[in-house]
Amino acid sequence: MHLKTSGDPVLILFFLIKAVMNIFHEIRKSDIILASALILGCIISLAYFSVSSRELSPASTVVITKDGKILENCSIHDDKTVDTGSNTIVIKGGEVYMEHADCKNQICVREGKISHAGQSIVCMPNRVVVEIKGGDEAYDAITR
Ligand SMILES: [Zn+2]
Repeated sequence: MHLKTSGDPVLILFFLIKAVMNIFHEIRKSDIILASALILGCIISLAYFSVSSRELSPASTVVITKDGKILENCSIHDDKTVDTGSNTIVIKGGEVYMEHADCKNQICVREGKISHAGQSIVCMPNRVVVEIKGGDEAYDAITR
């Protein structure tokens, strides 16, 4: 069988399903129905998750970690300043930015403001990560 290695992962998945179906065909027809129902369910949930993760969901939570440890986990609407010791992160008016960092490159400071779910500011030298997570809150981020 010729497998396409490049291109859509869904396409590869289909080839795999076809292969599985061929095996099942030799077993029992009722098994095919069961298998296809299961596979179909998998595809639907896969497609659903890949679509929903690609969309810009409303920003809701700000998670700040240092060395992988969570220092702050709060709503994006909680106006506050978080000091990690090396970095100062400001959460204000639904936006997050790195106000100060003691790193040499200052990439994190120059990153500017972020306000959408899925966006993040990373300070590599200090291993500080600021992430915005999505949620079910009001769609104030979409209108931007
Ligand atoms: Zn930095």
